[in-house]
Amino acid sequence: MRLILLGPPGAGKGTQATRVAEKYGIPQLSTGDMLRVAVSAGSPIGLRAKAVMESGALVSDEIVQGIIDDRIGEPDAKSGFILDGFPRTLAQAEALDEMLARKGLKIDAAIELTVDAEKLVSRIINRAAEAKAAGRPVRKDDDPEIFRTRLAAYFRETAAVTPYYAAKGVLRFVDGMASIAEVAGAIDAILAPLE
Ligand code: AMP
Repeated sequence: MRLILLGPPGAGKGTQATRVAEKYGIPQLSTGDMLRVAVSAGSPIGLRAKAVMESGALVSDEIVQGIIDDRIGEPDAKSGFILDGFPRTLAQAEALDEMLARKGLKIDAAIELTVDAEKLVSRIINRAAEAKAAGRPVRKDDDPEIFRTRLAAYFRETAAVTPYYAAKGVLRFVDGMASIAEVAGAIDAILAPLE
């Protein structure tokens, strides 16, 4: 299964993608996670991406497309994957189709977690507080002001990806404001017939 999880930052894509990856035995490909690893490692890509990520803006299409092109060619992604945080622009969605078409592949489903944007801000404040209380590092871009920049980038650039997958007939919506278990159940109901 080749899946895409869409939705704004803080919608719960990471949580659900991790669960789907475990349940269906496919890798979770999160461009955000991969970029954070590159930043910590101080690699050339990390050095280029660091300041952009900290500001809450989007890293260039060229960088993330390169990361994904390499990653989907790895052996563990041969039988499927779930993309989390990619594509985030129309250009990325088109580039992904080209990468897959070269391998004779296509996306089976794009699931968008729908949200109430204002409630997301309080959700993200809680996420930062929970991480801090548990002694985990708090993401710099989970600061409420920067989070608003990320949300604005989503509505300006990423929202255009939704109609792209709708036109392909693979888009499904799930209420991302429901509980984690309810969201999981709704996603599984969509995926069951695809297995
Ligand atoms: P995330 O963990 O998915 O919220 O991503 C954290 C940050 O990484 C984003 O705010 C962007 O700066 C960058 N990023 C992650 N994925 C992408 C992408 N597909 N396109 C551009 N920037 C991205």
